[in-house]
Formats: sequence, C-alpha cells, structure tokens
Amino acid sequence: MKVREVFAKTALTRTAISGFDYCLNPYVGCGHGCRYCYANFMRRFTGHREPWGTFVDVKVNAPSVLERQLLRAKPGVVAISTVTDPYQPLERRYGMTRKCLEILLRYQFPVNILTRSSLCLRDIDLFKRFEQIEVGLSITTHDERVKKVFEPYSPPISSRIKALETLRQENVKTYAFIGPILPLDPEHLVKMLEGIGEVLIDRMNYQNRVKGLYHQYGLDTFLTDGYFNSIGIDLKERFERKGVSVSMIF
Ligand code: SF4
Repeated sequence: MKVREVFAKTALTRTAISGFDYCLNPYVGCGHGCRYCYANFMRRFTGHREPWGTFVDVKVNAPSVLERQLLRAKPGVVAISTVTDPYQPLERRYGMTRKCLEILLRYQFPVNILTRSSLCLRDIDLFKRFEQIEVGLSITTHDERVKKVFEPYSPPISSRIKALETLRQENVKTYAFIGPILPLDPEHLVKMLEGIGEVLIDRMNYQNRVKGLYHQYGLDTFLTDGYFNSIGIDLKERFERKGVSVSMIF
C-alpha cells in the first residue's frame, strides 16, 4: 500500500447527493479495494496511476481545515464518506475520521456515516453524543466467498452484521446499505439482518467495469437487469413484511 500524507484545501464539500448538504472524505483512495468501486474515478483527479486499492492519500490537515470551515458553514447534514471508506484500515493509525467527528460534534452538525468496517465501533462514545447521527454498514451479500471476490480487502460480512447489532444495543441509529447487490440469497440475508430498522437497496452500477470479473467467476447471470430487479423486489418485500423501512435507490 502506497501511503502519502497530503494537505487538503478543503475538508467539507457541498454535495448534490439527496438527503445530504455536505460530504467529508478524510482520505483519497481506499484500502478496501472493492473491485466495483465507483470512486476509482478519483485517480484521475489526483494523478494516481496505481491500481485502485493500492494507494491512500491521508489528508492530515483535514481536522484543522474542517474546524476553520465550520466557523462559517451553515448547519447541514454531513455524509462521511462518499468516495472513500472512513473506517478503512489506515484509520486505525491516523484517526482522521475520529478527529473530524470530534470537531463536528462540537458544532453538532448532523452526520451520516457509511462504512464496510466494524472499526466504527471504536467511535461509539462520540456517536452517542451527537444529537443527530446515523451509522450505516454496507452489506452487499450474505456469502463471504462472494465478498472475497468483489471486496478482497474489506472486513468479513459477519463482523459488519455484529457491528450493526452492537450499535443498536448502544442506541445509535443504524441502517444497512445493500448495495451494490452482489450474488446473494435474499432469504439468508434478511435472516442475517434480523432486528434492523432501515435498509437501502441499490443495484450494481458501472457494469462495464466489472463485466470481466463476473465472467471470470461464471457469475454473468448476476449482472443482468432482471437479476437486480427481482432480487431488489424480493428483498424489499421480505423486509417490509418484518416492518423494516426500505428505500430502493434504483
Ligand atoms: S469500501 Fe467503499 S470506497 Fe472503499 S473501495 Fe469499497 S466501495 Fe470503494
């Protein structure tokens, strides 16, 4: 992994993503290296030629820049993160996400976190002090073997399910993001997510990027509109029967 410490001009950026006012990405690049990651377009903007998942720029001044920006920013919902995972492995060493959260907490800006890592549990003490916060875990399949193919360096699905349970026990508002829908068994996945209150579902986008990978593993039928529509509806109906709030975002 090539790690570079960089100085960012801004930490908080206005976003057009529905439901959020700002996004905050303490890192460029992501050690989870998901093969389908749409954020790999960031390579173009940052001059990286290395494959996605093999480099991370750490915005070491993000907390101080954020603090300066918050003095003037209109309060709004901050999405952490949108083009990196805030709890990727390097967060253990650098703690940039935690430092930014400490500052957001001081100003009580509402926060929405999305991650694939149970490392988020480290920051429960901060989550509990926010007036408004939601913490989401991406659960893309029930099958660890499938996860290994598509998300080679991300934590096991089982640890994410456990993290959701722990957060709920600590009264932190949570959601599961089933996106992108990887090859999965809806019955199995819904059972694994027993107790969840809110679920978002999305299909695989940017299909051209992953066509070869699906083909290599003989998974072509899992990359069709028919598959995404039928699995999406199946999941939605199963969750709704259990009283879970579901948003389909495709
Ligand atoms: S965890 Fe998120 S940002 Fe990181 S590689 Fe996977 S999809 Fe991309």
